Amino acid sequence: MNAELPRMSLLIDGAFVESTTGTWKDIVNPATQQVLGQVPFATLDEVNRAVAAAREAFKTWRKTPIGTRARIFLKYQQLIRENIGELAAILTAEQGKTLPDAEGDVFRGLEVVEHAAAIGNLQLGELANNVANGVDTYSLLQPLGVCAGITPFNFPAMIPLWMFPMAIATGNTFILKPSEQDPMVTMRLVELALEAGIPKGVLNVVHGGEEVVNALCDHPDIKAVSFVGSTRVGTHVYQRASLAGKRVQCMMGAKNHAVVLPDANKEQTLNAMAGAAFGAAGQRCMAASTMVLVGAAREWIPELVAKASTLKVGPGHAKGIDVGPLISTTACARVEGLIESGINEGAKLELDGRKPQVEGYEKGNFVGPTIFSGVKPGMRIYDEEIFGPVLIILEVDTLEQAIALVNANPNGNGTAVFTQSGAAARKFQEDIDVGQVGINVPIPVPVPMFSFTGSRGSKLGDLGPYGKQVVLFYTQTKTVTARWFDDDTLSHGVNTTISLK
Ligand code: NAD
Repeated sequence: MNAELPRMSLLIDGAFVESTTGTWKDIVNPATQQVLGQVPFATLDEVNRAVAAAREAFKTWRKTPIGTRARIFLKYQQLIRENIGELAAILTAEQGKTLPDAEGDVFRGLEVVEHAAAIGNLQLGELANNVANGVDTYSLLQPLGVCAGITPFNFPAMIPLWMFPMAIATGNTFILKPSEQDPMVTMRLVELALEAGIPKGVLNVVHGGEEVVNALCDHPDIKAVSFVGSTRVGTHVYQRASLAGKRVQCMMGAKNHAVVLPDANKEQTLNAMAGAAFGAAGQRCMAASTMVLVGAAREWIPELVAKASTLKVGPGHAKGIDVGPLISTTACARVEGLIESGINEGAKLELDGRKPQVEGYEKGNFVGPTIFSGVKPGMRIYDEEIFGPVLIILEVDTLEQAIALVNANPNGNGTAVFTQSGAAARKFQEDIDVGQVGINVPIPVPVPMFSFTGSRGSKLGDLGPYGKQVVLFYTQTKTVTARWFDDDTLSHGVNTTISLK
């Protein structure tokens, strides 16, 4: 182990501490393979100490006035804004995405922090006045206690910010388990959160992999778990944490279909598709990875290929780059293997992005834009989430066939339709069985006054992250039925029925 490299700390009870573990993992720049730092796999004792600190802090944090909580997030959004350039640079170095896209990653998280600052208008109960004589019923949205969040590598700023700001703003305390592949920007955001005034023990961080995640799922003092990541791990987390009696929400893998009707504006559609399929090197859960061309729109393939060919592949920090590297050499080999399988299974390789020449960055995990046409369900490139810059194209004759195809796919994260027909768009919006729908918008991730609403195989649990739904996720609704007699009201005597009189 190289003692010179920065080591990620744990955050326990307000103090950044070095783990006593013997297991450390390198954090690697995916464009260069340079080792940037090391991340510990925390011990179970450290996980337990973090949970104990969060449990203790909850006693006072739950009583902290809502205005005090809100003002911390007002300060926090300002600090993120002031440091967005530095945050994006850290993110690009460890994750690979381009600098402008890294700023977008931070910004989409910042919007959730802004929303958390409005908690005074969000954590509101209801009141029904005079439901019986002298009786009112009202509801309280009370925090649950210690909550935990487990995050993926692909949005190391936005997704942690989906979780702990809203959990803490609603009065909970939190244990965050960042991705072990790119935890550096997450840790910088955690430092800024403490600077904004989050008290000790209210936010804690433990690093690690399977063992730490399982400990969080099992821990009896953790009341709720938020997870974002792959379907395989999310399903495991949902089952394990539910079995331990917790409230759980898991946002998982995807296969997002964009349906293109022949009446769509061709230029706008093809630009949107090239950006949404290849941006972030296809490593977005909402990437438009699957294009369904309806009728004569199938003639647009050569123009799409021409546009994709102009995208520049290279290191995310360099100017003018469109497609950065994949997160790891393993991810790169996996994507190359899937491209190989597409060729072997009979799809037509329209554009081959394997092993692009990136001068000066020969060791980077690069795959350039790749396009397959003639794809069919049953091929691995259709059935699996590729999570790389690979766009697959299917062709159908009618909108009805396109809708049936999308609805037959097990995933329900995002979808889009491109058309100039209001009637066709409305039919799509009504009949498509996918949680997030774009109409001429390729990546329809809702802004934080709504919630992230992936569905079917892409989600387990009822309530989504951020927005109004997450206020319900992170709180327990308590209803109070109260009777206050005027002193001179005559008693009704003993009442042995269930009714309120
Ligand atoms: P991942 O499932 O490999 O990892 C997610 C988290 O789980 C990480 O913190 C990781 O340390 C932990 N983990 C990994 N293996 C584990 C195991 N065996 N047991 C317990 N925990 C384990 O996901 P990833 O590769 O980091 O992220 C990419 C995936 O996330 C893609 O499938 C993508 O679609 C999905 N994703 C979904 C959304 C969404 O909102 N639906 C958003 C972003 C990413």
